[in-house]
Amino acid sequence: VSSSSGEHVVGGVGVSALAARLGRTPFFAYDRARIAARIAELRRALPAGVRILYSMKANPLPALVDELSGLVDGIDVASAGELAIAVRTGTAPARIGFAGPGKTDDELDAALAAGAVVHLESPGEMGRYARLAGERSVRAPVVIRVNPPFQLERAGLRMGGDAAPFGVDAEDVPAMLRALPRELDLLGFHVFAGSQCLDAAAIADAQARTIDLVAGLVAELPAHASAPVRSVNLGGGLGVPYFAGERALDLAELGDRMHRVAAAAADRLPGAVLAIELGRYLVAEAGAYVCRVVDRKVSRGRVFLVTDGGMHHHLAAAGRLGGAIRRNFPVVTAGGGASEEVTVVGRLCTPLDVLADRIELPRLAAGDLIAILQSGAYGPSASPGRFLGHPPIDEVLV
Ligand SMILES: *Cc1c(COP(=O)(O)O)cnc(C)c1O
Repeated sequence: VSSSSGEHVVGGVGVSALAARLGRTPFFAYDRARIAARIAELRRALPAGVRILYSMKANPLPALVDELSGLVDGIDVASAGELAIAVRTGTAPARIGFAGPGKTDDELDAALAAGAVVHLESPGEMGRYARLAGERSVRAPVVIRVNPPFQLERAGLRMGGDAAPFGVDAEDVPAMLRALPRELDLLGFHVFAGSQCLDAAAIADAQARTIDLVAGLVAELPAHASAPVRSVNLGGGLGVPYFAGERALDLAELGDRMHRVAAAAADRLPGAVLAIELGRYLVAEAGAYVCRVVDRKVSRGRVFLVTDGGMHHHLAAAGRLGGAIRRNFPVVTAGGGASEEVTVVGRLCTPLDVLADRIELPRLAAGDLIAILQSGAYGPSASPGRFLGHPPIDEVLV
C-alpha cells in the first residue's frame, strides 16, 4: 500500500507520519487491517471447520498476538515465554498448543498448570509429562507430533523425511502409542512437513499424506486412548513472496484442493477437527521495517546508503536467516525522479550487515526514509538485537 508520493502506508498512515509520531527511527510497523483481511480471505477459501492457528514464533509482539487471538481459532507456542503471552490473551487453554523439542520440566509444569495441550516430541518427554500429571492427579491433554516420512515439496523450509530433533519418527509412533500412560489424554496428532511454500498443490499433497499417515496410526491406538482421534494438525507451509520473480500462493486453488483433503479426512477420520498452523502467512505482508538514511557515501564507484537500521533488527532482510543465497526483500521510498543503484546497509561493523544489495532507488540523502516490506514475521524476535549494543527496536501496531 502506498500513497500518491510513493510513500509506504501502514494502517492508513504514511511511514513519515509514523516516524514523526514515534519521534524516532528505526521501527517496525504492523497493519491490523491487513492481518484481519488476510484471515478473512483464508476463511472464505478454506473448508468450513478447518481451524486456523497462529504460530506465535513468527511474531510474538504481545499487542499483535492479542489482536490475532480474536481472529484465529488457537495459538501455537514453543516456549514458556510464548505460553505466558498466549494465556494473557484470554485464549481458551484447550486452544493453546505447546510444541517444540526439549521442553523442560518447568515448561511442562507451566503447560499443565495453564491447561494447554502439550505436543509430545519424544517418548522421553511423554514419560516426564505423565509423571508430572500423575503427581497432580490430573489427566493432561496431549497430541503426538510426528516426524513424517515425507517432506513439503517445493518449500523454502523442508522438514520431515529425514532424521530430526522435531517430533517422533512416524515408524516409532505405534510403540509410543502402546506405551501411552493413562495420565495423558491423547487428542490427536500434529505433522509439520515444512514451510514457506508458494505452491498450493504441494501444500495440499503434504496434507493428503498427513491424513493417510494419521489414519494408519489410529489403527494402533490402545483401548484406553480416545478413539476416534479428535484433532489433526496438518501443519502449515503457506508462504509469502519475498523476492523478485516469486508469485503469491494461489489461495483459491489451495482452498479447492483442501476441500478434497477435508472430504478424505471426514471419511477416514470421522469426528477429527482439522487445523493448520500459520505464522508468516498471517503477518509477514502486514509489516514494514522503516529506517532512515544517516549517510550516503560512495566507495570505489558504489553508492552506499548507511541507515540507522541493520541486521540486528532484521536478520532475514540481511539474508542471514535461512536461505542459501542472499536475495533482496522489496524496498520502497518516497519520491520519484532520477534513480541510482545503491546498497543499503546498517550500522554494524560487519560486512554481513546489508539490508539490500545493489537495488535501484530514487536518489536519497541523509534524513530520507526507507521501508523494507514483507517484514511482519521473523523480525526483531529472530534477530541478534544485542549485537553491538544499539537500543532496542520499536514495534507498533497501526
Ligand atoms: C515455525 C513453525 C510454524 C510457522 O511457520 P511459518 O513459516 O511462519 O508459517 C508452524 N509450525 C511449526 C511446528 C513451526 O515450528
